[in-house]
Amino acid sequence: MSKSKGYAALQAKAPLEPYSFDRREPRQHDVVIDIKYCGICHSDIHQTRDEWSEYQDEAIFPMVPGHEIAGVVAAIGNQVTKYKVGDRVGVGCYVDSCRTCAECRAGLEQYCTVKTVWTYNARDQQGSPTLGGYSDQIVVDENYVLRMPDNLPLEACAPLLCAGITLYSPLRHWQAGPGKKVAIVGLGGLGHMGVKLAHALGAEVTVLSQSLKKQADGKRLGAEHFYATSDPETFTRLDKHFDLVINTVSALSDWNQYLDLLKVNGTMVIVGLPEKDTPVGAFSLTGGRRSLAGSQIGGIRETQEMLDFCGQHAIACDIEVVPIQQVNEAFERVLKSDVRYRFVIDMASLK
Ligand code: NAP
Ligand code: ZN
Ligand code: ZN
Repeated sequence: MSKSKGYAALQAKAPLEPYSFDRREPRQHDVVIDIKYCGICHSDIHQTRDEWSEYQDEAIFPMVPGHEIAGVVAAIGNQVTKYKVGDRVGVGCYVDSCRTCAECRAGLEQYCTVKTVWTYNARDQQGSPTLGGYSDQIVVDENYVLRMPDNLPLEACAPLLCAGITLYSPLRHWQAGPGKKVAIVGLGGLGHMGVKLAHALGAEVTVLSQSLKKQADGKRLGAEHFYATSDPETFTRLDKHFDLVINTVSALSDWNQYLDLLKVNGTMVIVGLPEKDTPVGAFSLTGGRRSLAGSQIGGIRETQEMLDFCGQHAIACDIEVVPIQQVNEAFERVLKSDVRYRFVIDMASLK
């Protein structure tokens, strides 16, 4: 065991505070990572406040959140072949899976039918609670570790591990590219990566945001069009317009309104995870043979593909770096949609 320092919520809805705990000794295939940066995902807020209790079995406290982890390899187990000490690496939303089911073998570990071991608020294969990236070190099996682009700043790449892959995966699956009209709903951490990635893939990108406050940013990030959802005209003007809508909204919103913006055969992919169920009208789907779909992060192979794609296209996240002592204020600002566009914790502040 080695001592680790981090920040934890000691119980649901409690503010995060300094917390010391043990990390396991590295096993043969483990990589010990000195965490340099960790992004603040809206999921960290949902989880530490136990907002998904209707959808998951348990919430485990003390909870050390954080699944946008970027760091440097500090030590390796004696069977590790993929990484060496000093490599720039990342860890995303999960740290293990069964490795044998059809999904795992297909590189869809995030949909493992036996058990995906989430990076925090989960139990590992031995039953111990997992603790996440708001901490100085993490120990992860090499098969669940990613290689970071070496031409981009590590801090700006940390959020690729969740926000980046969560948008890249559906954009690729539903073939966003030249000739496709794609809408990104919500310009937050996920949404801003959706704009950058969809634009880089060649699609015509529109942002649907609550107001026009972020319009100049949206255009700079790669959107050709930007509309406020507070303006009812937006829904008239864009009726039956898009091939693909990706909905990143973290709160309850009217999905029917967005479904009506799809062309015939269009798809709306839900990636935002509000606390409560959202009603959907049958007519929004039938009138246009539309699909309503969901998507959850991405597999290890696809996550590496996304990181390499970002390296090739020089795509990183727009971030605001904060010391860990400001994590609770950062949570509050995320809740007010007041972040441009991802907070990243500088783990040097833990020392
Ligand atoms: P975020 O940075 O807070 O962005 C969410 C955006 O949604 C906000 O910037 C805002 O955009 C919009 N929004 C917020 N409240 C709204 C409301 N009441 N009505 C309409 N729009 C609203 O959060 P994030 O980190 O991108 O995460 C977004 C959601 O995705 C969260 O629920 C998170 O848990 C989930 N998530 C899912 C996955 C997955 O694998 N499926 C992965 C990561 C995160 P505007 O200011 O532009 O309106
Ligand atoms: Zn996340
Ligand atoms: Zn599996």
